[in-house]
Amino acid sequence: MASLPPRLSDETRAFVANAKNNLIAGEWRKPGGSSSIDCIDPSTGETVAAFAPASTNDVDAAIDAARRSFDTGAWRSLTPAERAKRIWRIGELIDAHRQELSELESLDGGKPFAAAFNGEAPAAAEAFRYHAGWCTKIDGGTFKPSIGGLDLEGVTRLEPVGVAGLITPWNGPLVMAAWKLAPALAAGCSVVLKPSELTILSTLRLGELICEAGIPDGVVNIVVGSGAVVGDAITRDPRVDKISFTGSTASARAIIDAGKGNLKRLSLELGGKSPVVIFDDAKIDEAIAGAAGGIFGNAGQVCVAGSRILVQRTAYQRVADGLRKHAEALKLGGAFDETTMMGPLISAAHRSSVDRTVKAAIDEGAERLAGGRIVDGPGFFYQPTVLADAGAKSCAWREEIFGPVATLAPFDDEEEALRLANDTQYGLAASVWTENASRAQRMSRALRAGIVWVNCHGIPDMAMPIGGYKQSGWGREHGRLGLEAFLEHKSVMQRVFS
Ligand code: NDP
Repeated sequence: MASLPPRLSDETRAFVANAKNNLIAGEWRKPGGSSSIDCIDPSTGETVAAFAPASTNDVDAAIDAARRSFDTGAWRSLTPAERAKRIWRIGELIDAHRQELSELESLDGGKPFAAAFNGEAPAAAEAFRYHAGWCTKIDGGTFKPSIGGLDLEGVTRLEPVGVAGLITPWNGPLVMAAWKLAPALAAGCSVVLKPSELTILSTLRLGELICEAGIPDGVVNIVVGSGAVVGDAITRDPRVDKISFTGSTASARAIIDAGKGNLKRLSLELGGKSPVVIFDDAKIDEAIAGAAGGIFGNAGQVCVAGSRILVQRTAYQRVADGLRKHAEALKLGGAFDETTMMGPLISAAHRSSVDRTVKAAIDEGAERLAGGRIVDGPGFFYQPTVLADAGAKSCAWREEIFGPVATLAPFDDEEEALRLANDTQYGLAASVWTENASRAQRMSRALRAGIVWVNCHGIPDMAMPIGGYKQSGWGREHGRLGLEAFLEHKSVMQRVFS
């Protein structure tokens, strides 16, 4: 086992040395799985810890605990104000342990520390605070039925959907766990959470904070292990009422299949091939910086990454030059190096897959304006890459690469921009860069994407629903819609006797 990076705090060292990996019914239980999950630091490629995965018996126990806590009303029967207080407390505890959580995020996922400290950890805390506010605002309505001859009263009510399986990816494990846990808890659900086996540490620490915040035993259960074993067991189990999943479209298909036994409710937040559309009337320097941030942030491992950059021909050369300069100026480095501007990819396997797609695009005729190569040395670094003329049929243009690879194409007018932007199986996000307000409005109406940013890209807000058109998913996270994904609507018709 390699030694931990020197700058880690004593708290983080102690946590990594002693972390136990199954939270079941309020206890941290020894896992029954026989193999080992290695925690690999992507900045160095070194294994920094190893854990046994959950066995299917552990998953069974976790689901049982969630089911019992739900059926006995341990959480959902508390007053909304009491639930709100405890969910708010989770946010406070995240803030209090921001350093440690950010260190774990950087160690496990290779995220530059400043990004984890200033972005992920506060965003996770904010998710809990935002949803704490919803607890006391979950309401229904009344209506007067139009049925003659009877005195009837109609009531609609919102109730928690039941036990929710939460399955999260590796590209933002802390914040993704928060984005699912917070609405589930606000709705009154009990949950079984499975983080990606590539990044388990921050989720486990969050589990400890959740216990400290006074969430009753059995309401939040965490099991670690692979999607194929642990994820599949959660998804198949008839005691689980709902799955909320973020990850790849391929895994989503497996989840749809596995969940059909009891017709589980599904929320699927999947991949994208999001267009960034830059008109020549935009503030071009801002657009270049925004497009660079949209594809090189988190080394491109972001579901809403702006991976297809469409530029009006009259501004094309300037944007292409600007993006190339941005890519060449990005300093790659380990997550704990303060000068790092872009960190590593998550794993050697993922880096190979990114490289294969880039090579295939170049073989198919794309021009390499910047990057396009694996960085020699330790860690899983890949050069920030800009490709031009990849061609509308190339895999670099069509497939989600999930790495720091921008593909660039020109367009002549709004109609062509729109046709190119919408020519994708995905529909998660898009951005439009223009100073013309009517054009921005026309484009935002016509783009087939769940979220459209104007003169910015990739800025989330808890009040703004996010989710996909087409093959980018089912349902929405954030805002009232995100909360409602964990609620059932019940109608009550009551006859009133005189
Ligand atoms: P996956 O979809 O494989 O992983 C996401 C989560 O789902 C992980 O916890 C994984 O477990 C779990 N999982 C995988 N298969 C199943 C299954 N059959 N049943 C239940 N759970 C399952 O994504 P990858 O990590 O492999 O990344 C592959 C690609 O997916 C990326 O390159 C990118 O294109 C896309 N992606 C998109 C994300 C987004 O934010 N929209 C996030 C991450 C990936 P485990 O990993 O432990 O096996």
